[in-house]
Amino acid sequence: MTYDKNNIFAKILRGEIPYKKIYENKFVLAFHDVNPQKKVHALVIPKGEYVNLDDFSSKASDEEIAGLIKGISNVAKKIGVSEQVKGAGYRSLVNVGENGGQEVLHLHFHIFGGEKVGKMVS
Ligand code: AMP
Repeated sequence: MTYDKNNIFAKILRGEIPYKKIYENKFVLAFHDVNPQKKVHALVIPKGEYVNLDDFSSKASDEEIAGLIKGISNVAKKIGVSEQVKGAGYRSLVNVGENGGQEVLHLHFHIFGGEKVGKMVS
């Protein structure tokens, strides 16, 4: 699938629309989800143009892949849900494609926490 440079997260990366930033480094940008599904709901996205996890795994450099995985943990610490910080824990998930329920076609990991997240799949 071709990457659409006009998707909403591409616009966020270019600073064209407002968002609530949590964290940023060379590889990732993290921000609060505009429609939180749990008390804490953050999104972590790679800075590169990747449609979904499969696109990322096949095209991203090892540095980018490591940067994204480390970024997810760093964000979890920053927003106070990391198991290593308060022992609370969180859920991180990624939706891929139509059956996965992916709406925004720029790879993003969700982080849910701040309360019991509940059943894994409903
Ligand atoms: P997904 O269904 O995995 O593609 O999730 C897309 C997520 O992006 C949803 O949880 C939306 O609430 C969230 N979202 C959409 N637009 C924005 C935005 N402008 N800022 C922050 N989050 C957004």
